[in-house]
Amino acid sequence: MSSEKSAAIVLKNVDFSETSSIVTIFTEELGKIQALAKGARRPKGPFANSLCLLSLANVVFIHKSSDSLDLLTEAKLERYFRGADFSLLQLYTGYYLAELVQTMTDNGDPHKELFGHLRTCLEVLGCQKCDASQVALYFEIQILDELGYWPVWESCASCGTPLPDEDRSMFGILEGGVLCAPCRVGRRNVVKVSSAALSLLKLFQNSTLPELLRCPEFPEVPELRRLLGRYISHILGRPPRMFQYLPLFTQIKDLS
Ligand SMILES: [Zn+2]
Repeated sequence: MSSEKSAAIVLKNVDFSETSSIVTIFTEELGKIQALAKGARRPKGPFANSLCLLSLANVVFIHKSSDSLDLLTEAKLERYFRGADFSLLQLYTGYYLAELVQTMTDNGDPHKELFGHLRTCLEVLGCQKCDASQVALYFEIQILDELGYWPVWESCASCGTPLPDEDRSMFGILEGGVLCAPCRVGRRNVVKVSSAALSLLKLFQNSTLPELLRCPEFPEVPELRRLLGRYISHILGRPPRMFQYLPLFTQIKDLS
């Protein structure tokens, strides 16, 4: 057992007893951890308001090497990513990003860069004019890239044949990439995607969010949202829970 310090973003907070909670937090140094926060439910408890969903806090916790829960001993609120600055759509988008980290990363697997992306996205979501759909798309692309799910584009995801440039490609959800003409015959779960959308996907992968937000609106964003919505649902084995609260996702048919 060792005591660790880190910045952390609260992904989930579940009541454990009359006075305690179990929190899932995404730490900058050690990735996702689940910890018991004794006294967290007491109004003047040791954690005050620092363990609300989407809070950024500096935490101290005792990291257990076994499967048992870590023990949170301190949490000092640094920033609260919700409240008056957030519209309902921006708040739900923030919850969606937290859900992606919670469901797609493993406990104790550090992803410092992804932590930075999550923090940036939550900061941007608090800006009045931000396009929540664009922020969601940016984060989805970063998490897929970081966790090794980045799709195959240059060659067929099934047989490896180099692909010619085409106005429209066929993306195999099960294969995780674009398919050549012979391989797409008879395949299930194939989505048409335009070359403009594929170019935008690469731009989102290689740009920072502030850079993208200075660009005019991208008409291909809804197309990419639908594609990645289906791809992420396939990776998780079900659509993310927050899809039902986000208008762009509720328009997507056949997510599983
Ligand atoms: Zn092929």
